[in-house]
This record gives sequence, structure tokens and C-alpha cells, in this order.
Amino acid sequence: MERFAIPFPSRIHRIGELATDVWWSWQPGARQLFRRLDLAAWRSTAHNPARMLRTIGAETLQRAADDAEFVRMYDAAISGLDAARHPDQSWWKSEGPELGTKVIAYFSAEFALHQSLPIYAGGLGVLAGDHCKEASDLGVPLVGIGFMYPQGYFHQRVSTDGWQQEHYERINWADAPIETAITPDGKPCITAVPLGDRTVLAAVWRVRVGHVRLYLLDTDLEENAPWDRELSARLYGGDRETRIQQEVILGIGGVRVLRAMGLEPAVWHLNEGHAAFVVLQRIREHIEQGLSFDDALDMVRRSTVFTTHTPVPAGHDAFPYHLVEKHLAGCWGDLGQHRARFLALGEHDSGHGSMFNMTALAMRAAGGINAVSELHGHVTREMWQGMWPDRPVDAVPVQAITNGVHVPTWVAANVRELLAAHLGEDWIRRVDDPATWQRFDAIPDAELWRVRLTLRDALFAWIRERARQRWTIERVAPPRVVTHGAMLDPDALTIGYARRFAQYKRPELIFHDVERLARLLNAPGRPVQIVFAGKAHPADDPAKHHLQRVFRRALDPLFGGRVAFIDDYDLHVAHLLVQGCDVWLNNPRKPLEASGTSGMKAALNGVPHLSIGDGWWAEGYTGDNGWLIEGGADANNHEAADNADADALYTLLERDVVPAFYDRDQAGVPAAWMRVVREAMRTNLPRFSTARMLKEYVRRLYAPAAGR
Ligand SMILES: *Cc1c(COP(=O)(O)O)cnc(C)c1O
Repeated sequence: MERFAIPFPSRIHRIGELATDVWWSWQPGARQLFRRLDLAAWRSTAHNPARMLRTIGAETLQRAADDAEFVRMYDAAISGLDAARHPDQSWWKSEGPELGTKVIAYFSAEFALHQSLPIYAGGLGVLAGDHCKEASDLGVPLVGIGFMYPQGYFHQRVSTDGWQQEHYERINWADAPIETAITPDGKPCITAVPLGDRTVLAAVWRVRVGHVRLYLLDTDLEENAPWDRELSARLYGGDRETRIQQEVILGIGGVRVLRAMGLEPAVWHLNEGHAAFVVLQRIREHIEQGLSFDDALDMVRRSTVFTTHTPVPAGHDAFPYHLVEKHLAGCWGDLGQHRARFLALGEHDSGHGSMFNMTALAMRAAGGINAVSELHGHVTREMWQGMWPDRPVDAVPVQAITNGVHVPTWVAANVRELLAAHLGEDWIRRVDDPATWQRFDAIPDAELWRVRLTLRDALFAWIRERARQRWTIERVAPPRVVTHGAMLDPDALTIGYARRFAQYKRPELIFHDVERLARLLNAPGRPVQIVFAGKAHPADDPAKHHLQRVFRRALDPLFGGRVAFIDDYDLHVAHLLVQGCDVWLNNPRKPLEASGTSGMKAALNGVPHLSIGDGWWAEGYTGDNGWLIEGGADANNHEAADNADADALYTLLERDVVPAFYDRDQAGVPAAWMRVVREAMRTNLPRFSTARMLKEYVRRLYAPAAGR
């Protein structure tokens, strides 16, 4: 199948290749190139160049090929792409271990790379996507394995009474940066996975991310039974039974895909427990080569690395044994004689009787385990201490590698330029080096404030435009136009709150005392407004009720149209919000937020964090780089904690945040505010970057695993 119907002008013939390598998405030059090609199409496709190239006409392309400036930008982007795919020099080459032709296999159930490939639900996917992008930048020989969900994750709309509606839309493969994976002998890669008493076939898609490739399994093949074709249709769409089958395909099928592609991993990284059946397939392979169960397990353990991402029990997949029996029936091979020993690896009782727990399996089979912040490290060691009964909590072998975000992806173009002007053109390459930041203080407040104002303007222009589209094109009822932010004030202090709706994240905390909040929002001359966004998991009714109540608050005249709910949160919306709000709110129930990353994205754009000291903020807060919500009540007493935390939040807003934002000097610059903005950037950018994070993974987990 040809993706692009018209041939490209020969002078720019590789433009389609550029548009279908996600690498373009974090290159300012490539982004400029596509904007210049057709700004209206760039906007109307939500920055999807593959789709743009399919819809714009031949004349537009020819005009571009005749435009000297365009061609210059094109040449620069193409040589950048070639250099990224085959780097002469890289951090890995100078600092990484020697792996020869071996690779690091990175398994994840979701990857958030770009909004044009909606195979992610939230933070876990964003982390996996950012991990891959950073691996490309550092030259790490990483190969990702995941799922191609033909219907992706849902699009969110909200009814007039605030109830979330989920719309699934088939991904048009030609609009997404994916292509059929081809094996070394030139055939489309198709893998057979034993599932229960049958065999399911999985087609394999390839995604290029610069130096990194991703292979995505897809069971939607004609040869499969209808119910098997549905297996990979949606991310987190099914019941327990669908879930375990998806996990068999990902784990067992994933290993087979790597073999079929001729790849030999030196390290197997399981990002969360979803892919832990990798362990089964690998033990089986070793046993079939003649090893004993213990030796096979030992071999697997040496090269397996596992990352756990949440202390919330529902985040750890556990299956009753009868489901495991049923769906693994065809997977055993020579491992069958040791079935009881294998099943014991997953045994765990988290309070509902013994089940087969994917986290327990991954922990027992990994030689390196990590949690995603310092605090989450403590919590995880406590939570799983029972698996190491002879060790004190502190000696439970779970390290902490705090999450980070991929700076080139999340930084706004004008912030990037401002920093380039003051810290040097290549500041992003040196982002995690303290020396890079020595000249940061020389940036004048007024310049940084101008950048902030531009980003705020861009957010409000986009919000108004989207409200207008919902109104004129989708014909939503007037209340939806109000909730979509039509009454927001472009000059008011704007609080952003956007993330998956979940009970433990307490999305309604700020409404705890409605009178006090109303006074704050409607203060004469110093108004405050809140922009919410986020999806609730389709099966999570409590979360949908939170969303509904937030939506109803947005419609309450008491708050004067100063509360908005922006629907269909995705990477695109996330970019606009983390760049354009003034302050980023995060108020989970401690210690349930393992890390959180949206606050890191905000901070690097000069949007300070206003947060409970949970997750990354427990180690990120310095006293003057944002604000710490500290109610001080016993977290186990929910009512007391909510009262105290809400009070602390209002006090911070009234006493510190609002005055700092509105007290302006003669030039109109809020000096006290800018001190916090600066500290937020200076302290968080180097530390909470994936550059720092991935180097830690390499040094503390990958290199030891490769050497074992
Ligand atoms: C960053 C991000 C998240 C994660 O947000 P948290 O604050 O860590 O929960 C979720 N969804 C999207 C689209 C994101 O960009």
C-alpha cells in the first residue's frame, strides 16, 4: 500500500519519510518546515504532517520545492534525521557499555509519542514515549515493544450534564507514523502466539523514533477469529479476561517478534508488570536449550529489569488461577513440567486471596528493580517487603530512579529560543549539566515575562477557537461552550489541573470550601481561574462522578465562568496547558502519586508547581521554586487530610500565589512571581529531564544487567 498518492517533487522527495519518523516532532527545524508548508493544514490536523502530506495538493508541494528557504530547511532537517538514525558520536558511544550488535528491549503496554498515534492513556505512556525519544537523542540502542490498538484510546466528549462519553475511532494507518515491519528476509513480520487452545496471529507495525524503533503487535488480521481480532482493538478497553489475553500476546508474542526480527536483547526492560509473561517465554526457551528451571530462571533474572509505577493496588494486574490456566494452556512447551514452579513466581495475596500477580512475577524474575521517585522507592519497599521476608525494609532490593520528561518535546519553542540565546545554542544537549545553568541568572526578568505572556496568549487563543469549533461545527449546547472556557479572562491568574481523573488525585479538593474559593476567583482586580482537563478510565465510575461534579462547578454562576473543563485531553492539549497556564496544581492523596510528570513539564516552561509533597515534588521542592501544600493532618484519616490540605491550599493562594502574580513593577513585570518562575526552571529543568533519568537507567540498571 502506498501512503502518499502523489509523488513528491524530486528536490524534496524524502519529505514523506521525515513526516513518518516521530523524530521530527521534537525538532524545531522540522516543525518550522511543516508549518511553512501549509500553516492552516498544520493547525487543522493538530500537527500531523503525514496527514497534511496526504491532503495538500501537488501545487503546494511544488511551490515548496521551488522555495529556496524551504529547501534549505528541508536539507537541514533531512541531514539531522540521518545523523539521528546513525549517530557518529553519541553519549552512549562514549559512556555506555559495549553491547556489540545487541539491543535493549523495552516493553510497555502504552507509548505516548505524538497525538497522531493515540496508543496511550496517560502518564505511563508519556514516560515510555519520552524514554524512547531520549534513547534516540543519547544514541542508546533501544527497541520498544508494545501494542498497536487499531481503535486506540477513546476520544472524550462530555454531555450537557457532565457525563463522560467515550468515542472510539479507527486509526487510519496512513495518517499515523507507522508502517509494516519487515523481517531480515524481506517479508512482513507476522507472529504466531499460542493462546489457550488456539494460535492467534499478530501483525507487527514499526514506528521510527530517530535512532530507536518500536514494534507494535496487532491481532486485527483476517486469519484470526473475530473475538481474537478484537483483542488488541482498544487500550484498557476490556475485562480481566481480555486483559490477560492481551498480556499473553504482549509478553510471549513480544519475545517472538524480537526473534523474528533477528534482534538479540542484552537487557529486557519490563516497564510495569503488563509484559511480565516475557519471563515465561524466556525461561521456556532456556529450558528447551537444556537448562534446569533454576538455571533458566537465573539466566532470565540476570538480564531482566523491572520498573514499577504505582502504589495503587488496582494498578497491579492480578489474575485468578483459572484464567491463567485457561489462557496460558498453549504456552508451556517444555516448561510444562515445571508449571507449579513458574506459577509460584507470580503468587501473591494482596488481601483477596492468592492470585497470580504480574508485579510479583516481574519482581521475582528481575535482577534490577526500580520505583519512580525517592518517596515511591520507600513506599514500594514497604509494600512488597513480604517477598523478601528475611530482609529489613531498607534492604528490599528496589532502587529509585525518579522520572523525568523529554525536554525537547515539552519545552515551548520560545522558551527554547530564549535559553539558546543565553545558555548557548546546544543547551538542550547539556541540559543535565549544572555548568549549563551558570548563566541563567543573566536572563532579564522582562524577557522571560514576555515569553510567559506569549504562551498565555497562545493558550487562550486556542481555548476560544476550540470552544468556537465545538459550538459551530459540533453544535454543542451553550453550557458546553461555557465549560469550554468561553468566559475565561486572558489576563487573570490561571491555575492548570490536567491529568487522568482518579479518586486518589482528588480533582475536587479545590472546591472543598466553595465560598472561600468563590471569593478567591472573583476578587476584584485580582481574579483567578482554573482550567481542568482529563479523562476518566471508561470503567471507573467514581472518577466519572468526580468529572461530572467538576463540570457542574464550571456551570455554577457562583464561580463566574472562571472554571473551565477542556475535553479530550491528549498530548496536544497537554502541551498547550503546561506551557500556557500560570501555575500547575497537583493535590493527590499522599503517598499514592508515585511520581507525576505533568508538573515537570509545566515547571520547565516557567509554570511553577503548587503541589502536595508527594511523588517527584517531595524531592523537587526547594523552598522557593514553587509552593508546597502541607496540611499536616494524618493522611490515613481522609476527612481530616482533605480539610487540612484544602485549607493549606487556599492559604497559599491567598497569601502567596495571588499577590506575587498581581504585584507589578513600573514596567508591568511581577518581580516576586518571576523569582519563583526562575527558580522553577533553574532547579527542575536539569534534574527532572529524561537526559538525567535515562543515564541513571543505563548506569544503574542496563549496564549491570548487560554485564551479568
Ligand atoms: C504528562 C501527561 C500525563 C501525566 O500527568 P500526571 O500529572 O503525571 O498524572 C497524563 N496525560 C497526558 C496527556 C500527559 O501529557
